[in-house]
Amino acid sequence: MIDFNMLKQAVSLEEAASFYGIFYDKRSKKCCCLFHNDKHPSMKLNKEYFYCFSCGAHGDVINLVQQIYGLSAIESAQKICNDFNLNGSTDTCKSPSIIKQRQQEIEHRKALERAFHQARRDALLFCMNIIACFFHGDVI
Ligand SMILES: [Zn+2]
Repeated sequence: MIDFNMLKQAVSLEEAASFYGIFYDKRSKKCCCLFHNDKHPSMKLNKEYFYCFSCGAHGDVINLVQQIYGLSAIESAQKICNDFNLNGSTDTCKSPSIIKQRQQEIEHRKALERAFHQARRDALLFCMNIIACFFHGDVI
């Protein structure tokens, strides 16, 4: 039996969306809705759930995969387990070591993102200082 909560902790909705080829804007975290004929992205994704501002459709990673492949909730959970190598037996979804490993990967990715944003901020500040010097006539 698959533990849905453990599964949702192990695989974020954003990861699943990318994995299953849903194109979404990484900045706005929006994509065209899968539940209605959407021409402009009105579905918002985050780590845990999706929500469509147009038709109100919402759900978690299991619901999303259900919708993409037309599966039942259990079939959907099994598919995610298979596709994200959480299987062996479906019980490994509950394996604390896999969950821990995935959480470490997520933490690592977050640390990299933070470092990147910090570097970008520093670079921007540097540029602004040069521009400020220029307008103050400090540039030689
Ligand atoms: Zn919708």
